[in-house]
Amino acid sequence: MSARVLLLNATYEPLRVIPIRRAVALLMRGVVEGVDGVAAQVHTPNAVFEVPSVLRLRYYVNAPRRGAVWSRRGVLSRDSYRCIYCGASVGDRSHSRILSRSDFTVDHVIPRSRGGGNSWGNTACACLWCNGRKGARTPHEAGMRMRWEPKTPRVGYVVASGDVPAEWRIYLRV
Ligand SMILES: [Zn+2]
Repeated sequence: MSARVLLLNATYEPLRVIPIRRAVALLMRGVVEGVDGVAAQVHTPNAVFEVPSVLRLRYYVNAPRRGAVWSRRGVLSRDSYRCIYCGASVGDRSHSRILSRSDFTVDHVIPRSRGGGNSWGNTACACLWCNGRKGARTPHEAGMRMRWEPKTPRVGYVVASGDVPAEWRIYLRV
């Protein structure tokens, strides 16, 4: 059982992850239908009922794509633990060792000390060596080239950065 519920649009497009309480409210209002899995069992004075792990809205909502909530883990996941500066990734040999996930950190393109914030566009995965070499400088100042432009990920990445129940996967395409 998962403690959260994946809410899909009528078109089966993932909208967001909602807490059980909110899922129950939507079920009571009859605006959603269960699609897959069991997220929780809810006990009422008279009955016990199961809250599905995946819910689908009965009517299409025209939802503007919300920006995914930023997190360090989300950045590393979005970039697949690949360094935006040298391109090294987990399993590569670099600096006479085999790189593991702990060799990668979140780099602020515009350093925080210079006003750069925690946003998808200003952060990227960087190996410890590139991050150290760059220091509190911009890539331009450090003479370092970014291999891609950091972007706000699709919803799927965000959800995927946490624990994803098996029954969510086909809807998130992860
Ligand atoms: Zn690097």
